[in-house]
Amino acid sequence: MSFSASVLTLYPEMFPGALGVSLAGRALEAGTWSLEAIQIRDFATDKHRTVDDTPAGGGAGMVMRADVLAKAIDHASPPGDERPRLLMSPRGRPLTQARVRELAAGPGAVILCGRFEGVDQRLIEARGLEEVSIGDFILSGGEPAALVLLDAVVRLLPGVMGNAVSGDEESFENGLLEHPHYTRPQEFEGRPIPEVLTSGNHKKIAEWRRAEAERLTRERRPDLLESEWFSKG
Ligand code: SAH
Repeated sequence: MSFSASVLTLYPEMFPGALGVSLAGRALEAGTWSLEAIQIRDFATDKHRTVDDTPAGGGAGMVMRADVLAKAIDHASPPGDERPRLLMSPRGRPLTQARVRELAAGPGAVILCGRFEGVDQRLIEARGLEEVSIGDFILSGGEPAALVLLDAVVRLLPGVMGNAVSGDEESFENGLLEHPHYTRPQEFEGRPIPEVLTSGNHKKIAEWRRAEAERLTRERRPDLLESEWFSKG
């Protein structure tokens, strides 16, 4: 069974968007994964098709209604659907490569994209939504976050990446940032390729890459060396 994504959004026209081209787009066409973008507004019950309302307790902005969202989720994910239900949210657990791997190994995902100030808390609890953040910044909506998450997942699906080895050596896969890359020309604006890489000595090359990965990680992301975030579990 292929990976099946259902995205609940007020802007279904944003999908597949960037995921319609390149590796993800070809895999979508080939049926390696499937994507349905569901218009939340179709589940509104009044004639104005209202999906949001003013926040209880006052304050700026609008909040997405629990009742409308529940109907949309129940339609996308009926009882028996084994797919995790995610809510893109800056308050969520930061997305990691480890979680991406788990999702890619599963049946798919139902992804709710917030807008405005966010969604009614009771909906999150009543439908057991897993809140997922893509970083410590605020987007105007969950759609770009859902695209980011799906991009990371889809490239791990069997058959999507031509060269599977390049996946294993990437940043985070072994708890380190990746070593720097070089390609022709041999000299660029007076800068040569590090000699060891053109030596043909594979053991030395592997050692150099490992040392560079460790150096970069120590310099830029010392937190990775201590955390279990990246671990394959
Ligand atoms: N008032 C909220 C932000 C709302 S932003 C707060 O301060 O926490 C509107 C929507 O964009 C959110 O409901 C969420 O779906 C999405 N979003 C914004 N930033 C995000 C992030 N870093 N990761 C994932 N989703 C995000």
